Amino acid sequence: MPDELTDTSRLHAQSRQLLAAGRCVEALAATKIVFADAEAAGDITLMAHSLSQIAWCCMKLGQAEFGLECALGARRLWERADHPAELARAAAIEAFLLIDIGLSDEAFQAAESALQIAETALDDSVTAFACNAKAVALVICRQPELAAPLLERAIALASAAGAEAERAFCLHNLGFCHIKQADDANHRGEESVGRYWLDLAIENADAAIDAARACGDLWTLRAALANGAEFQGLRGDLYAASRYLNDWAALPGDPGPSLHIHFLYTQSDILLRSGLPERARIAAAEALALAEASSQTDHLLNAVARLSAVHEAMGDFATALALHQRFHALYVAQSGEVTRRQAKVAEIRFESEHLRARTKELTGQVMQDPLTGIANRRSFDHILDRLAGTGFAVAIVDLDFFKAVNDRFSHLVGDAVLQLVARILVANIGVHGHAARLGGEEFALIFPDAAIANAAAFCDTVRLAVAEADWAAIAPGLRVTVSIGLAAGGESDLGGDLLAIADRRLYAAKAQGRNRLVTHDGDALHPATSRRQFRAG
Ligand code: GH3
Ligand code: MG
Ligand code: MG
Repeated sequence: MPDELTDTSRLHAQSRQLLAAGRCVEALAATKIVFADAEAAGDITLMAHSLSQIAWCCMKLGQAEFGLECALGARRLWERADHPAELARAAAIEAFLLIDIGLSDEAFQAAESALQIAETALDDSVTAFACNAKAVALVICRQPELAAPLLERAIALASAAGAEAERAFCLHNLGFCHIKQADDANHRGEESVGRYWLDLAIENADAAIDAARACGDLWTLRAALANGAEFQGLRGDLYAASRYLNDWAALPGDPGPSLHIHFLYTQSDILLRSGLPERARIAAAEALALAEASSQTDHLLNAVARLSAVHEAMGDFATALALHQRFHALYVAQSGEVTRRQAKVAEIRFESEHLRARTKELTGQVMQDPLTGIANRRSFDHILDRLAGTGFAVAIVDLDFFKAVNDRFSHLVGDAVLQLVARILVANIGVHGHAARLGGEEFALIFPDAAIANAAAFCDTVRLAVAEADWAAIAPGLRVTVSIGLAAGGESDLGGDLLAIADRRLYAAKAQGRNRLVTHDGDALHPATSRRQFRAG
């Protein structure tokens, strides 16, 4: 399989390059193959990387719902891998996707948590990305003046980290932020202030264009060129606007439907205002056809509005009115659409939580003893398999005269005894090893890397802790002791495997009077001669 793995990592590298170059359609196709390969190979890290990347491609291509599922999947995996920087990146991608879906409050929350995680991870590039996500969520929530300083911080961080594509994307979003500030000023009737923000928006779009061109990111370059054209159109500089659009059209590769639709209705607007209504109509009709095919409601709304305006300007009022009515119907449907999307996002999140809980529950069922909550026999066998070939020690701990506890005090008291013994074992072994219930009243302790003397000291502490526990609190007159057989690595040549040796020594401990530890064949350490032997009944 090494060849296959090399192919996968080569494809992974290639898909990253495609994404960096803004060739998102090809990047998405390649990354899906990488994910499938990673899943087949059980490579969790590569699965997580490719899920994040698929989600980001989806954001750039307007496939927000599918992207969101992938972003949540990536978050899960990065959480499990305990990788805060990548976790923050996945959360920021989730925020961008939520913005795209129209759920700005949820987006703000996701971005806020992304930023907190990124800051603790001390990763400038991811912190810039998370700042960027939070700022865009703020712009969408109509708080552009709060967003602008965040974007400036993101730009500074991206510069410091040498993350040029990130810087270009931040500059692009700062332009978008300033255009909202211009809108707000114009709504307040403050035209000169509006003009100021519009000029700044254009400045930032230009800076984004330069940065994206310099690092070869076609996606941000196209997005910034279309915004630049739109902003120049607002300023009334139609010549500059069409220059941006020509630059856009000259770029190579498939832009994907989202960028293409945005380009077409911006182009239609500029053409109409340049006195070219027939060409404007063709562009708007093409935008509408693409929006219908890609079923993106927001784009559909914009395309219908644009086409309606073109027909109105051409004097074709009947078509303009019909399109206007369609716009109105879509607008109403879009309000319902937000509710549907909210429900869909809740469902995706619920499914993903549910799956996580279920997996945990199932793993727990398979690996845990239900009465005591500690590892079961199956889990114990797994641990032994894992330690095979390394030096470790294993002890079997068996309750003394336990049948009599049941007989004299009841089965319920017997269960409580088993639970307390399990807690004592876990508390004593701590981080030094593992405790498991093998079945019935028999437990095991595993000590990785432990010399027999150390393991013996632990076992005897455990034996004493059991003998001295407050058993009377469970039932007056109750006393409990254990016998322990211990075997350490390197002894398997003494006959049978370690477990069989430990078992043999356990029976020696029983035979020698119980409440004791046997660590060698033929002798008993720590005979509990001073202790009165408990015998129930
Ligand atoms: P020894 O000192 O020789 O080990 O004597 P013992 O009585 O502990 O050993 P024996 O194997 O004769 O009895 C084990 C008892 O453990 C029998 C069974 O009723 C009891 N037992 C096994 N599983 C459970 C359980 O889950 N709950 C309770 N209460 N009792 C259990
Ligand atoms: Mg017993
Ligand atoms: Mg037993």
